[in-house]
Amino acid sequence: MMTTTPTHGAGTPAERSTLVDRSLPFRLPWAEARGRVARLGPALDEILGRHAYPAAVSAVLAETVTLAAMVAHSLKTDGVFTVQIRGDGPVSLMVADATASGALRGYAQFDADAVAALDTAVAGVRHQGAPSMPRLFGRAYLALTLDPGQGMERYQGIVELDGERLADAVHAYFRMSEQIESAVRFAVMPPEGDRGWRAGGLLLQRMPPEGGTATAAEDAEDGWHRAVVLASSVRDQELTDPDLPLETLLLRLYHEDGAVAYEALPLGFACRCSPERVEGLIRSLPVDDLAELTVDGRVDVVCEFCGTSYVYDDADIARLRANDAHRH
Ligand SMILES: [Zn+2]
Repeated sequence: MMTTTPTHGAGTPAERSTLVDRSLPFRLPWAEARGRVARLGPALDEILGRHAYPAAVSAVLAETVTLAAMVAHSLKTDGVFTVQIRGDGPVSLMVADATASGALRGYAQFDADAVAALDTAVAGVRHQGAPSMPRLFGRAYLALTLDPGQGMERYQGIVELDGERLADAVHAYFRMSEQIESAVRFAVMPPEGDRGWRAGGLLLQRMPPEGGTATAAEDAEDGWHRAVVLASSVRDQELTDPDLPLETLLLRLYHEDGAVAYEALPLGFACRCSPERVEGLIRSLPVDDLAELTVDGRVDVVCEFCGTSYVYDDADIARLRANDAHRH
């Protein structure tokens, strides 16, 4: 059993471009599991290209963005899903977010000298040489925030970063914060020659049991374990191969028991910063904080995600603050 949305052939470059920058949701009914498989290429180049981070930082940011892309798929129309890692190591902050429509962005804050001092060899696939999460982040926390939009309340879960890789932390997060069993894989390929960044991810989550007989429960248990073993058999090259349709990858992994694929979500870089948002910030800041940001009579607010600079002079600020006073 394998039902999918129409797949695209891996022929011309134009067609090939439809095989990357997308996330495919699926279900494994026999394992009572749902999942997402995602692959990023040009979108990742755009996100990482906004910054000039060391390869080790870019590689983990690529995984973080891939995670955001996979989880965002469960959002309703105007929600935002945010992944944040905060630590006391060389990298102090990493943020990636994704909207329900597949808009992705991310950035990191780090001590460049401390990162340079690490072993930052990122040869071939990241896992073969990049520094581990504890070396990059020190004592750190992973926070996942779901903002469903439409005035609904935000939900945030936090888990201590444990294990060598982001995948370990994600696994721990779902188990501890949401009581969901999961399996997660990431693969990242740094640029090489003409080829840009590539990343892929596979996330499997066990659905709550539906009840039924002990035999059915046992079958589901067996199914789940089989699904996890097969998920962990996926090779990094398969996750990142721009010529391998995600539907085909799913079929390769689960051809015996079958997988039900749903409509893929296209992914791309987009920043949600705007003059309106920055002006809202300037209006809302206490006078002292605003004075601290003012250099030579100008306030320059730079968006961390995309690098866009918003500059306001004294007259602009006076106008914004006057409007504000008038309104309230
Ligand atoms: Zn921006």
